Amino acid sequence: TEKNVIMDETAIRRALSRIAHEILEKNKGIENCLLIGIRTRGVYLAQRIAERIKEIEGVDIPYGELDITHYRDDREEGGKGLSETKDQNLAKSILTITSGSTGIHDKKVILFDDVLYTGRTIRAAMDALMDCGRPRMIQLAVLADRGHRELPIRPDYIGKNVPTSTHEQIEVALTEYDGKDEVYIISN
Ligand code: 5GP
Ligand code: MG
Repeated sequence: TEKNVIMDETAIRRALSRIAHEILEKNKGIENCLLIGIRTRGVYLAQRIAERIKEIEGVDIPYGELDITHYRDDREEGGKGLSETKDQNLAKSILTITSGSTGIHDKKVILFDDVLYTGRTIRAAMDALMDCGRPRMIQLAVLADRGHRELPIRPDYIGKNVPTSTHEQIEVALTEYDGKDEVYIISN
């Protein structure tokens, strides 16, 4: 097993600063924008971008988090989604808007995840969001895009493109959860 650092703390900080600026540029500010992090590490990325945007523009951007465990189509307990179970309590438990907004209706939702691979998680995240309301638009930001898409999904904001083979893996460490900021590529 070989482990190589592909982003250190500085590289991660610079990539997130760039993404914050790209979000402001693409959306001409942050009006009607809502940042949603996919659990677990996407949540910290969304929070960091919210902090960066506050520093740059002096405005608070609402953010929240999404748990898509019940939506994955390739996991045993998941796959059915809420449109089949019609469980509105479950719908409320998966999307938590932490601050600044009451819902996703008519919002420009910017989804955050640490690593983008086949795209199935993002498909599931979009399904989950659609069950919570009708966003005006959904954009996608990822820290690392490792390729190998199985669905027609592409990110709007990318920390780093990391071409991988299928037997390689990316490991993401974020200070809030892992005690340090680092991204590795692991080959077996
Ligand atoms: P996908 O659904 O696109 O196949 O995979 C993306 C999801 O699985 C993300 O939530 C991501 O956290 C996780 N994931 C997929 N591949 C990797 C990887 O190589 N490293 C890490 N850290 N997570 C991955
Ligand atoms: Mg993840």
